[in-house]
Amino acid sequence: MSIQRRNFLKSAAAISGLALAPRFAAADEQVARATRTLPAPRIKDISVIECEPQGVRLTVVKITTDQDGLYGYGCATFTQRADLVKPAVEKYLKPFLLGKTTDRIEDIWQSCYDSSYWKNGPVLNNAISGIDQALWDIKGRQAGMPVYQLAGGKCREAADTYAHASGAEFEEVIDNAKKYMEQGWRHVRVQVGLPGMSGYGSQQKEEGRPTALHDKPLFDPAAQFRRALKLLEVCRHELGEKVELLHDMHERLTPNLAVQFCKAAEPFRMFFLEDPLSPEDLGYFRQIRQNCATPIAMGELFNSPHEWEPLMTEQLIDYIRVHVSQAGGFSPARKIAMLAEQFGVKTAWHGPGDVSPVGHMANVTLDLVSYNFGIQEYSPFNERT
Ligand code: MG
Repeated sequence: MSIQRRNFLKSAAAISGLALAPRFAAADEQVARATRTLPAPRIKDISVIECEPQGVRLTVVKITTDQDGLYGYGCATFTQRADLVKPAVEKYLKPFLLGKTTDRIEDIWQSCYDSSYWKNGPVLNNAISGIDQALWDIKGRQAGMPVYQLAGGKCREAADTYAHASGAEFEEVIDNAKKYMEQGWRHVRVQVGLPGMSGYGSQQKEEGRPTALHDKPLFDPAAQFRRALKLLEVCRHELGEKVELLHDMHERLTPNLAVQFCKAAEPFRMFFLEDPLSPEDLGYFRQIRQNCATPIAMGELFNSPHEWEPLMTEQLIDYIRVHVSQAGGFSPARKIAMLAEQFGVKTAWHGPGDVSPVGHMANVTLDLVSYNFGIQEYSPFNERT
C-alpha cells in the first residue's frame, strides 16, 4: 500500500469519525477520485419538518451533511397518520444513517427497507421516501444539476396536468370544469356529490336522505353508480367532445358494480376512470378488461410491488398512479415507471393536496424523465404553502 493511499485512508477515517473497513475505504477513495478528490458527503443530521399550511398535515425530511451548505429535502407526507412518520424517521432511520455517505442512494434505500424485517407499510415507506428524496436532492446540489438531469434528462419540456372540477350538483361541476378549460386545461376530473350521503368530492346535503338508525353519513353504492354515470353523460354533453374527462371512483362501489360502471362509462370516452376497485379486490381488474375498453388508472393506495406488478405485467391497467412517498420515494417510483414502460402502462402519479411541494417536485421530475408519462394530477397551493 502506498504512503499516499495510507494517508488517504487515515484522513477518510478521521473525517468520518468512523473506523472504516478497508473495503469501504477503498470504495470511498474511488468516489473521491471520481468527484475530483472531494470527500463524499456524510449524513450529519436528519430532521423532520411538520406543518399544516393549508389545513392538511405535511411532513418533509431534511438531511444535512458534513459539508457546509450541502443539504436536501424529501417528502414523507402521510397526512392521515402523520404522528407516526416522525418517530419512524427519528427513532429508527436516523441512528441507522448518521455518518453514512450520501452517495449511495440505492444502497441506503435497500438497507432502510430491509432494516425493519417487516416492510411495505405506509409509515415506514413514507419515512424512507423522506430520506431517499433528500439524498437525490443532495446529489443534485452536489452536481449542480436538477435531478431530472441525473435521471437521464428531459423527455419533454413540461408535464400536462388535470384539474379537479367538483360540485354538489351537475351544474356546479360543469361551471367549474368550464373555468378550468378557459384557463387552458385540456384534462378535467369531474366529481359530483350524492344528495343526503357522504361521497367523494361532494358536499353533504340532507335532502333526499334515506331513513337510517343513526345520523352519521350514509353511502349507497347503487345510488352512487347512478349519480356518477349521469354526471359523465352530462359532462360529455355539456363540455363537448374535445375535453379529456377523468373520474375518480375512489374504491367506493362493490366489485361487480365497479365492473358494470366501467362498462357503462365506455360510450363517454373517458381519459381514465380512477381507482375502480380497492387493493383487496385486484382480481376483478381482469373482469373490467374483459368487459370494456375504458382506460383504467390505479395505485394511490399501493405500498408494495406485489400490488402494482401483476396489474402491469398482465396489462390490466392503463395508468399507474402510485403515491410516490407511499411507495418509498423517488428511487422505487423510477423503477415503477420503467416497469410500466415495458408493458405499455403510462404514469399518472398521485398529486393531491396531501403531497408536500417537495413531493410534487418529485412527481414533476418523474414526469419529465419518464418516456411513458401519461398525465399529472394538479393541486393548487395557497400562499402559505
Ligand atoms: Mg384517487
